[in-house]
Amino acid sequence: MSALFKRGKDDTTKSAAAPAPAASPAPPASELEDWFIPKESRQHLTAYFKQLKSPVALEIYAKDGVNDEYNEFTSKFVRDLTRLTDKITETRYDLDSDRALELGVSASPTVLIAPDRYDIRYAGAPAGEEGRSFLEAIGLASMGQSGLGEPAKKLLAELDAPRAVKVFVSPTCPYCPAQVMNAVRAAIERPKHVSVEVVEIYENPDIADRYGVGSVPHTVVNEELHLMGLEPEEKFVVELVTLKNAEEILSRERQAALAGKAAGEFDLVIVGAGPAGLTAAIYAARSGLSAVVLDRQNVGGAVAITPNVENYPGFVSVPGAKLVDILGLHARQYTPIHEFEGVTEVKIGRLIEVYTDKAMYLCRALILATGATWKKLGVPGEERLFGRGVSYCATCDAYLYRGKKVLVVGGGNTAATDALYLKNIGAVPTIVHRRGLLRAERHLADSVAREGIEVLFNTTVAEILGKTRVSGARVIEADSGAEREVEAEAVFVAIGELANSELAELVGLATDDEGNIRIESGQRTNIPRVYAAGDVTGGIRQIVTAVSQGAVAAMSAFDDLTRLKAAGPHVEDSPEVEGAPEDTALPEAPEQAAAPAEAAPADKAQ
Ligand SMILES: Cc1cc2nc3c(=O)[nH]c(=O)nc-3n(C[C@H](O)[C@H](O)[C@H](O)COP(=O)(O)OP(=O)(O)OC[C@H]3O[C@@H](n4cnc5c(N)ncnc54)[C@H](O)[C@@H]3O)c2cc1C
Repeated sequence: MSALFKRGKDDTTKSAAAPAPAASPAPPASELEDWFIPKESRQHLTAYFKQLKSPVALEIYAKDGVNDEYNEFTSKFVRDLTRLTDKITETRYDLDSDRALELGVSASPTVLIAPDRYDIRYAGAPAGEEGRSFLEAIGLASMGQSGLGEPAKKLLAELDAPRAVKVFVSPTCPYCPAQVMNAVRAAIERPKHVSVEVVEIYENPDIADRYGVGSVPHTVVNEELHLMGLEPEEKFVVELVTLKNAEEILSRERQAALAGKAAGEFDLVIVGAGPAGLTAAIYAARSGLSAVVLDRQNVGGAVAITPNVENYPGFVSVPGAKLVDILGLHARQYTPIHEFEGVTEVKIGRLIEVYTDKAMYLCRALILATGATWKKLGVPGEERLFGRGVSYCATCDAYLYRGKKVLVVGGGNTAATDALYLKNIGAVPTIVHRRGLLRAERHLADSVAREGIEVLFNTTVAEILGKTRVSGARVIEADSGAEREVEAEAVFVAIGELANSELAELVGLATDDEGNIRIESGQRTNIPRVYAAGDVTGGIRQIVTAVSQGAVAAMSAFDDLTRLKAAGPHVEDSPEVEGAPEDTALPEAPEQAAAPAEAAPADKAQ
């Protein structure tokens, strides 16, 4: 048994004493010093725990010799939680105890949350990204409220049979906590029917392997329905209830929900909660515009999956997730941000109608800050083996491939960063690049060489191989035309990005040959009162350019709306009116010049 699990079998103990009342003598120095959770986090947690209502019992299971460092993490982490609030208690069990057998607990460590009321368990330490969902789950369990939206609650009320949900996660996957929370909320809403097991893949590779997990989050319901990626709440709930793909059923629900639903009205709707959209929100609100930000995923955009940012002024080095937290918190002080509310349609008129799958918003101006998405290779095997070894997110999936051979396709910054990340985590990456030289920034290319990462230059991937999981790739050498197979358990595709310009095309915005929205002065587009900012406009795809364009777009919207208002209702009412008269000085957008080839930060090709 681990040193931290030295109590007797089935020994039920409230671990440490509850925090001392204010008047009691100060605890001895030794007790003050042995905190595991850092001071700043303890302060946040203490404030968070004030909202707890009912006590939450945590049961920790562990076995000596299995994942010892994670057993220890869990033990110390939970011990600290019990010291921060008397609402949380803990009980420790051996993995071979009767209780573990009775509850079918087999992974070390495992934590059960409020097992007297719910069946929610974490197989693996609640560390990294999963620490967030773990704490949120404790909060919801204590309040006895799922926090699900009304449509999801209604759908879930129809459930009349048991559902066992497994959500596979990694500690570095920024999308995982939200998918975990989908499942946890369902378990809290329908405790008699829904059970949830969050499986950390690095500590439980055998379970991940058994379920064919090649990418996270990966959700399995009742051992039969496999769901890839993070899903909107309603879609998840529909699939949970029906054990079927939800698209068709949802569109009926959406239509019903939209019919007769009162739409919110704003000066400005901002689509996208990445750096560009969040900055636009801050600038819009500070200039007096009413605004709302809509995002189909959670706040942060591409920064959320960036391991470390080292070129954003003011931060020598900052994890992407932390920068997102700071940006999100800042923007929320000014405007509401609606997460998991993707915009599906826009109708331009005097008032612009913006449709999501939940509601319709009216606005006078619109900013598209929809970012860019990974380019696909477009070779056989890529679609079929997605989530089975084909990945576009090294940050999310690298953990699955420790000690394994993987390919990284591409030669720019993303490919180099991914290869270095994979190597650092213990995978054995080989870069496949179609040119003779890496196009990544010098310091990244130097690091690749220094780390001894193999690069197959002048080589393209023609096919990704594997029956049910990736087993390798068929590659072609450009010089000789020779084909060969390279063994690998995963292929990370990092060949650049394509603008998310579907909405722009729907609206009729002008785009260039690569689909980037064409920008005129002040981030204006060819349609009055519609602006674009950030990666969706192409050019230098970086956080600093995205935030600057977001600010400019918001100020242009402010200028144009103010001008329209001043021109009087007859002008304001006309959908034809130009937002910015040509003879008026307006804030200038940064140059949309193409990046010089040697400094291009965004990869354009393998
Ligand atoms: C792996 C990686 C590492 C990077 N490292 C760095 C770095 O070190 N330094 C740096 O400066 N830059 C880096 N970048 C680039 C940087 O992240 C982007 O330039 C920046 O995030 C662009 O911001 P954005 O707001 O334009 O778009 P995004 O951050 O992509 O945000 C766009 C948002 O729009 C949402 N959206 C899209 N369509 C819709 C719709 N129809 N409805 C609702 N919402 C929608 C998306 O969900 C997303 O949240 C990196 C990028 C990646 C992928």
